[in-house]
Amino acid sequence: MERGLLIVVSGASGTGKGTVCRKILSDAQNMYYSISATTRPARVGETDGVEYFFVSVEEFQQWLAEGKFLEHAEVYGNFYGTPRHKIEERLNHGEDVLLEIDTQGALSVMEKCPDGVYIFLLPPSLEELQARIKNRGTESPETFARRFQSATNEIEIGKKYQYVVVNDSVDAAAEKILAIISAERCRVSRNKQIFEKLVKER
Ligand code: 5GP
Repeated sequence: MERGLLIVVSGASGTGKGTVCRKILSDAQNMYYSISATTRPARVGETDGVEYFFVSVEEFQQWLAEGKFLEHAEVYGNFYGTPRHKIEERLNHGEDVLLEIDTQGALSVMEKCPDGVYIFLLPPSLEELQARIKNRGTESPETFARRFQSATNEIEIGKKYQYVVVNDSVDAAAEKILAIISAERCRVSRNKQIFEKLVKER
């Protein structure tokens, strides 16, 4: 069976990663969304085990000590981690696995999983980014300023990724990401078995 692709999507706060990822998941076939663990409190409308596993700092530290995370990072004063189990299992079963994680996490996964597909989402403009962060309405003025500052600082890190997609429309951005995934599947390096099979049959 062909191994699935590990797809990592990052982008600064307010670039609309969440919405784009939801669209990809609804359009893609055979894709598993990796649910992260976080110590941040659940927002209104979020459910434990759906958006995140909401855990205490103690539980998070314990998971960490037990080696349960593929990567982890502190983002805006809270801990986030990608649980390792299931990822390998799903990839080996031919499913694609989607990680929506911050840049620190993505850089650490890049080292561990060089055959992953790393996609950076950009906002169409800084004005738009500012408006999107404000529109969330969940941020205090201090949190807003911190998020906007770190969002703009993070843009530079996007140069380390393999792909960049500007999110000027959710549908168009999701379509581009699905096209990237299709192209990645056609890489010669991912299709050695087909060559071998055909050569044998010659
Ligand atoms: P939020 O709290 O707004 O859901 O997410 C804050 C940031 O944490 C986002 O950039 C999101 O991509 C990132 N994030 C979510 N889960 C993980 C994770 O498991 N690992 C890392 N490194 N970042 C994560």
